[in-house]
Amino acid sequence: MEAITRDFFLFLSKSNILNRLAQNWGSQIATGKIIGGKNFEASIPMIRKLNEQGLTVTVDHLGEFVDSREVARERTQECIRAIQWIAQEKLHSHVSLKMTSLGLDIDLDLVRDNMSSILECAEQHEVMVTIDMEDEARCQKTLDLFKEFKQRYHYISTVLQAYLYRTEQDLEELNQYAPFLRLVKGAYKESSKVAFPEKEDVDENYKKLIKKQLLSGHYTAIATHDDKMIDFTKKLAEEHQIGKDRFEFQMLYGMRNKTQLELVKQGYNMRVYLPYGNDWYGYFMRRLAERPANIAFAFKGMLKK
Ligand SMILES: Cc1cc2nc3c(=O)[nH]c(=O)nc-3n(C[C@H](O)[C@H](O)[C@H](O)COP(=O)(O)OP(=O)(O)OC[C@H]3O[C@@H](n4cnc5c(N)ncnc54)[C@H](O)[C@@H]3O)c2cc1C
Repeated sequence: MEAITRDFFLFLSKSNILNRLAQNWGSQIATGKIIGGKNFEASIPMIRKLNEQGLTVTVDHLGEFVDSREVARERTQECIRAIQWIAQEKLHSHVSLKMTSLGLDIDLDLVRDNMSSILECAEQHEVMVTIDMEDEARCQKTLDLFKEFKQRYHYISTVLQAYLYRTEQDLEELNQYAPFLRLVKGAYKESSKVAFPEKEDVDENYKKLIKKQLLSGHYTAIATHDDKMIDFTKKLAEEHQIGKDRFEFQMLYGMRNKTQLELVKQGYNMRVYLPYGNDWYGYFMRRLAERPANIAFAFKGMLKK
């Protein structure tokens, strides 16, 4: 049943019609609950509040699978504006982005151009930019671009997904780039040809990747809401005397707020992923797929408005 629900929401997440409807309908369901404001400015008070609670942030301007050059340029400008705002307002925040929002499906040179403008600005203001990982079909291109840019820029990081068979090998290949990596289990619908179908295998691989990356000495973000993975990381760090400054936990905005603050209290670095903007539909559907309990949460939020 769980698998059917997950597949259903992941199927819905790809619907262009529903996406357009959702944009017109507005983001009342999610605003302030699992996403920030309609633009960066509107999200500043939320970021500040999180910072005051000891939480760092990574903002993500919602929107993916862009198929027009103009929109890809607009998305690029939005990332640059976010970096400038972060610097100007002295916020403790990184910026996350998706390659498809910068034109990955249109033209690689367009993405290179857009990414270079963003990374020049990031370098100038010392703001970290993380390339989110999308579906497996785009993984190789994304990693190739990451490697290319990592040779020229310092403020860039990316994400690896434990559900893909290829990831252990990718981690090894990335090692020479001394990467700051966010490790996740993976959020897209993938076939068993490329991804572990069983959750236990994903969890085991996730632990393996956490261990490898932490022991490599490169900075690691463990992005999960799963207590088992958090406890595993804490124990591993203790056993190998890995300082709390060598890694951080990450969770999505609106999920497990108490746990986030508890981790801060225990002295761990805790970063909150805060999406903002109008294009909330795909993100929201993937969250429902992960945890249908979020449905109840969302509808409660809607009734409160
Ligand atoms: C900061 C961040 C960035 C991410 N970036 C990417 C990305 O770039 N690419 C990508 O593919 N995916 C990304 N993801 C999503 C990720 O891949 C997973 O789909 C998502 O995090 C769900 O997996 P999980 O490890 O949190 O726990 P799951 O395996 O979904 O759940 C394990 C257990 O954790 C607990 N749990 C999970 N969620 C909740 C909750 N909301 N409240 C209470 N308990 C809960 C439950 O006990 C559950 O049984 C990101 C996730 C985070 C947190």
